[in-house]
Amino acid sequence: MRSTLLVIVCCFFVLSGVVADASDQRMCRACGDVIDGQYFETGGASYHPRHFTCHYCGQPIKEAFSSYRDKDYHTWCFEQYVALRCSVCSQIIQGKHVTDFWGNASHIEHQKNVPSCTFCGRFIVHDLTRGSENFRDGRNLCNICAPSSVTSLGEAKALLRDAARMLDNFGIRVVDVSIDLYLADSDQLKDISGGREHATGFTDFWVKKNIFRKVLSREIRVYVLRGMPRTEMTATLAHELTHVWQFLNGPLDQDSAVSEGSCNFASYLVLRKMGGTEAEFMIDAMLNDPDPIYGSGFRRVKLYAEREGTQAWLEQLQKKNPKLTGL
Ligand SMILES: [Zn+2]
Ligand SMILES: [Zn+2]
Ligand SMILES: [Zn+2]
Ligand SMILES: [Zn+2]
Ligand SMILES: [Zn+2]
Repeated sequence: MRSTLLVIVCCFFVLSGVVADASDQRMCRACGDVIDGQYFETGGASYHPRHFTCHYCGQPIKEAFSSYRDKDYHTWCFEQYVALRCSVCSQIIQGKHVTDFWGNASHIEHQKNVPSCTFCGRFIVHDLTRGSENFRDGRNLCNICAPSSVTSLGEAKALLRDAARMLDNFGIRVVDVSIDLYLADSDQLKDISGGREHATGFTDFWVKKNIFRKVLSREIRVYVLRGMPRTEMTATLAHELTHVWQFLNGPLDQDSAVSEGSCNFASYLVLRKMGGTEAEFMIDAMLNDPDPIYGSGFRRVKLYAEREGTQAWLEQLQKKNPKLTGL
């Protein structure tokens, strides 16, 4: 799952002001009254010294100050409490920067040299993730994701049963299907899936038939990426189980945007059922995925199923040329 980083611009200005004695008639920009005696002047406007105040602490500003989003601050108050700080280098951010799904802002240039968590996309720095574990295949698992990382086959099998039960509620019936489940590393998964980069799961089917083409046995193998956090593991299993359902219920020669988009839509339904911020993070990534099959395909199926109902969507998937038209 790749995360989306928002590019945002943040600008603040350091301005100067002076306190002087009024020898002519001046009006205070803040209260509108005439100023007798001392006044504070900045940007061509005058104020009673007590009326030009810091938006953070409320105390008068007497010298250079910082202005951000049309509000004025003591530079000290601004730098300590208001300014946006980079989650990687802790320096104040000025200008273009990126913000991850979790709200952490950082300088754009850190993308070039700071590793990020393969699962949640956070930059791996001690203040943010308290370090990371690294898989031999090059994946980084930050210490926020690590506690829910699934590395045992037993736990993965339990999540497979959970995913199957949740899919059952949407009419995708695979609870009784016998499936061989395997945990794989990313290079193994890339080989098994025919060279697909960043694959998190793959499903393989074998059908043995006699010479009259009668099906003698079916074998179903599901491979998933070892070490994914529980939420991503469950969502991936839901995706693969929907391939199993399509294998058992519909023609296999469908447009891949429809079949993969449908698996992702089933995964989306399961994520919505699970809830929580990790699920929201994954949904956000799916809704913004630029991939024509996994992203656009998913959004087309979602639009269809939300308009016509999940029953109609599953009925279409069982037809030779599904009419997910008008999308
Ligand atoms: Zn005033
Ligand atoms: Zn202040
Ligand atoms: Zn920085
Ligand atoms: Zn992480
Ligand atoms: Zn798939």
